[in-house]
Amino acid sequence: MLTSTPAPRHTGPRPATHWFAESTDRPTYSEPTSDWPSPSKTSHRRSYNRRTALIVALVAILIAVAGCAVLAFDRGLPWATDTDGGDLPSNTTAHSTGLAGIDNLEPGLLEALQQATTDAEAQYGVTLNVNSGWRSEAYQQELLDDAVKEYGSIEEASRWVAPATTSSHVSGSAVDIGPVDSAQWLEDNGAAYGLCRTYANEGWHFEHFPEAATQGCPEMYADSSHDPRL
Ligand SMILES: [Zn+2]
Repeated sequence: MLTSTPAPRHTGPRPATHWFAESTDRPTYSEPTSDWPSPSKTSHRRSYNRRTALIVALVAILIAVAGCAVLAFDRGLPWATDTDGGDLPSNTTAHSTGLAGIDNLEPGLLEALQQATTDAEAQYGVTLNVNSGWRSEAYQQELLDDAVKEYGSIEEASRWVAPATTSSHVSGSAVDIGPVDSAQWLEDNGAAYGLCRTYANEGWHFEHFPEAATQGCPEMYADSSHDPRL
């Protein structure tokens, strides 16, 4: 006959780990009364301070960068750009459409230069870069003001930079080509495309003369101050 043995009742002293559960006089936990901040509050405050310092530093950097950009634009430093006014990035070609300085060129000039650019690259390995094309009146005036500062007089400056009202760059009928070897290639081969160098003192400045393809390029002017068209 099977008899089940009842589980032995625990009759010994209660385990020490249980004593406090029934104890009536166990200590109750209370918040520390000290004024010292708890460790977690301290770390929050530290990270808050760190974040504030970071934001202040970032704002200071932004102000400094903006200040430098304004100064650079004011002084006409090379990295101050005015793309809408006709400034072009380096390595721009006649095929770099989407830039105001290229898109606003007179269509006949742009088409001729695109053809010459394609042929020069494919047949001679020569890259015709456009250093300057169309310019806004404001940008042209800025260049003239800079030239007056550099050359000391409006007379001398106007040998290099035309007035905003008459400049062939403002009307979109001129391009400045670089580097020197590429400008030389265009001087030697441009007539077939109707592209001619216009000024004896500017090896880079070309304009469109469609009749040059059959008649050759017209005589150059000594400089832009001798150009009766301006
Ligand atoms: Zn020019």
